[in-house]
Amino acid sequence: MKAPNYIDISEARKRHHAIPFDTHKRIQGHALLIGGSYGKIGAITLASRAALQTGCGLVTALVPKCGYEILQIANPEVMVLTDTNEKYLSEIAFSLVSNAIGIGPGLGQELATQKAFHEFLINTSKPLVVDADALNILAQNPTWLTLLPPESVLTPHPKELERLIGKWQSQEEKVAKTIDFAKHYQVIVVLKGAPTQIVFGNDFYENTSGNQALATAGSGDVLTGIITSLLAQSYAPIDASILGVYLHGLTANIALPKTGYQSFIASTIIKYLGKAFLALE
Ligand code: AMP
Ligand code: MG
Repeated sequence: MKAPNYIDISEARKRHHAIPFDTHKRIQGHALLIGGSYGKIGAITLASRAALQTGCGLVTALVPKCGYEILQIANPEVMVLTDTNEKYLSEIAFSLVSNAIGIGPGLGQELATQKAFHEFLINTSKPLVVDADALNILAQNPTWLTLLPPESVLTPHPKELERLIGKWQSQEEKVAKTIDFAKHYQVIVVLKGAPTQIVFGNDFYENTSGNQALATAGSGDVLTGIITSLLAQSYAPIDASILGVYLHGLTANIALPKTGYQSFIASTIIKYLGKAFLALE
């Protein structure tokens, strides 16, 4: 198998840029997070908060009606737009103002949501992160993959990846199939796991930060928020993916002496993002 390019602190530092002193919240970028459904509003709440704490200036969340109060109370800094439907998204306005969009955490797979996602894909050309149920919807409707804007970032965990590319017999085969998939659809694939790998064209990266504390509910939703925020701040999609994955893992390395593996939860990733950024300076 082709040797990976390892993502370590020097690779992350190369890609990281500091926030200029004279910036403004609009210059810092506006991230739009789309997802949530009844009982899964937490996923989009975590993604939205992670986006804010990764440095973009504005964050909007688009959720079904049942998410409104939850999000406003959990994340006072996040602006909330709601669907007409109470429990799941049935319409996704593609003209909403933002510099980048993350879609999928807690989204669900209702037929109306699938149709809304299809319409959204036909009409959007913004930098995009696709995660969770948005990936599962694509796996069920593979022809829609051709609608993804070039260099969209897909963030499947192993089961979501299998739904997209089929089963594999070895790590080599997994990477080879993902490279073919990523080249065919001109996307970046972040294969989440231990370790997380990133595929873009013929390039293949492997992350060196993180530990098993990250194996916890909502961990991937936080990663979606981080990468979407970096895209909103005008990072190139491959840089946003590499830096986002490294920072996400680094929070677990930094937090470990304080939290142990057991009490580290997805909110802890967000809490330690600041320390992870400081380690890059
Ligand atoms: P998700 O399954 O979507 O919540 O995503 C899980 C996140 O946690 C991904 O970023 C994985 O790479 C990370 N993760 C899960 N298990 C481990 C592990 N054992 N070691 C390091 N990272 C992990
Ligand atoms: Mg997930």
